[in-house]
Amino acid sequence: MSTTPKSEFTVQGIAASKGIAYGQVFLYLQSELEVPRYIVEPDKRVAEIARFEQALIVTRQQIARIQEQVTKNLGEAEALIFDAHQMVLEDQALIGETIRDFEKSGLNIETCFNAVAQRYIQAFAEIDDEYLRERAADIKDVAKRVLHVLMGQTAGSLTELVDKRIIVANDISPSEAAGIDRSAALGIVTDAGSRTSHAVIVARSMKIPAVVGVEDLTTKLKDGDWLMVDGYDGVVIVNPTEQTLFRYGKIQKIKQSFESQLMTANELPAETLDGVAVTLRANIEKPDEVALVKHYRASGVGLYRTEFLFLSAAKVPTEEQQYAAYREIVAGLAPAPVTIRTLDVGGDKPLPGDPELIGPEANPFLGFRAIRMCLENPELFKNQLRAILRASAHGTVELMYPMISGPEELDRANLLLTEARAELKERGQAYDEKMRVGTMIEIPSAAIAGDVLAEKSDFFSIGTNDLIQYLLAIDRGNSRIAHLYDPTHPAVLRTLKLIVDTGHARGLKVSVCGEMAGDALYAPLLLGLGVDELSMTPTLVPSVRYLVRVMKMSDARALAVEALKQTDAKKTHALAEAFYNERMKIA
Ligand code: PEP
Ligand code: MG
Repeated sequence: MSTTPKSEFTVQGIAASKGIAYGQVFLYLQSELEVPRYIVEPDKRVAEIARFEQALIVTRQQIARIQEQVTKNLGEAEALIFDAHQMVLEDQALIGETIRDFEKSGLNIETCFNAVAQRYIQAFAEIDDEYLRERAADIKDVAKRVLHVLMGQTAGSLTELVDKRIIVANDISPSEAAGIDRSAALGIVTDAGSRTSHAVIVARSMKIPAVVGVEDLTTKLKDGDWLMVDGYDGVVIVNPTEQTLFRYGKIQKIKQSFESQLMTANELPAETLDGVAVTLRANIEKPDEVALVKHYRASGVGLYRTEFLFLSAAKVPTEEQQYAAYREIVAGLAPAPVTIRTLDVGGDKPLPGDPELIGPEANPFLGFRAIRMCLENPELFKNQLRAILRASAHGTVELMYPMISGPEELDRANLLLTEARAELKERGQAYDEKMRVGTMIEIPSAAIAGDVLAEKSDFFSIGTNDLIQYLLAIDRGNSRIAHLYDPTHPAVLRTLKLIVDTGHARGLKVSVCGEMAGDALYAPLLLGLGVDELSMTPTLVPSVRYLVRVMKMSDARALAVEALKQTDAKKTHALAEAFYNERMKIA
């Protein structure tokens, strides 16, 4: 084995979730494998067969470990699939055929095994029997695992992450991110992604340092390499030297002291120096985040993304299952309000288990997403509406619809809500008759026709993540164009002002629940534009509260007036930065 120290190199990505992590790489690769092909010298052929047998043993151990983990986390029934996987590994036909092919061709064992496995997968996939067709998926999964072991890489399953490691992946789906074991993941680094992709939002809520958009870093790393992840500046340092470790040790100490000062100040009210109280609420994805909402002292929930209940389940959850989850949150936080957003799947959140509901689309962010899918599946939608209404009997619930593009959708959604109320009346089940119903403004058409929507809404909540994506035509998940995604673009500021003014003119409260609200750099701008409430990942509440407490609302208003005059986004950004730097002076 080589003992040469590996040299350090640095990769710049996008800072996605604050914090510093140092640890070994857990490479999570989902892309198709490129299997190497070469002739094995005759004197190495016995060793090649031994290599194959060893890979089968290692794979068996891997699967046993995952099975144990899944049994612990999800139960025995869910873990049964791994029995089928172990059977594939013991299949004498598959193994025997691989060795025979190898002896005949002299080609490396990966090539022979892959060819035999592909023949089996093809043969099973063509059989007109669902059970046998599923075996094709089992063989595919196991074959990929064996090939990964032969090629010295870890096969892709985040449930395998048991040690404290840094996950490095091409991309992570929101449901995969939601399933990550917080105590095992030190950090997350992905080739793809942007600050507002949903997997990143989940990482932030779990306080896992993350850097995304590092292009092809996965191709330059191996399992076990050492990484320093700087989620503040979006830097990843591979194989850091002693000096780098020392430097980061110092940075981490400074950051930790900063965070602890923020936490001390977090006990105090969110009130500006000129006496204006600001409401800071939390964005959550799961019922167990109620504890975080309380810990960070948010005034209730401004956005509960209900789709995560759907994304992590094997099947669409029933009304009862949904009711139980919603009630847990609402009762857990009562009397503080909880804004429950109806199902927003599609876009970067495909629905597992039910591919027909959405299916593959060329432009998923412009596709059959959120309210569009719900209106076409009224029973599924009403199940959710009834569950939300029933939860409203246990505290203060506000309901809001995502991705509304115009009044017709709002009318159709409200009609189904009226039906859901009538159905509950008939069943004799309680709900809050006065539950407020709001509209998310996150599509440019909704902003422009805000006056029409305001007539039919109790409040507005601005989803800046999507609003900016659609205004500037920038896919929020695409790292190549992430630098163009700019909250200080003049079109964004003007649109935000339009929405706030339109809502206020009709007596509506206007909040912001996109990532912009949790960024202490932009929060003063939003408040200065007249936004009434900010809702953010719970862990970000302390920094926004701190800033609120050291600023004057009159200054924030002046900042917004100045910002609206700018024609260059960079100048607006500089204004916001100067405002922030002048006030955020923590020793
Ligand atoms: C938004 O678009 O800003 C928003 C809050 O919703 P999501 O991020 O879930 O799309
Ligand atoms: Mg949105």
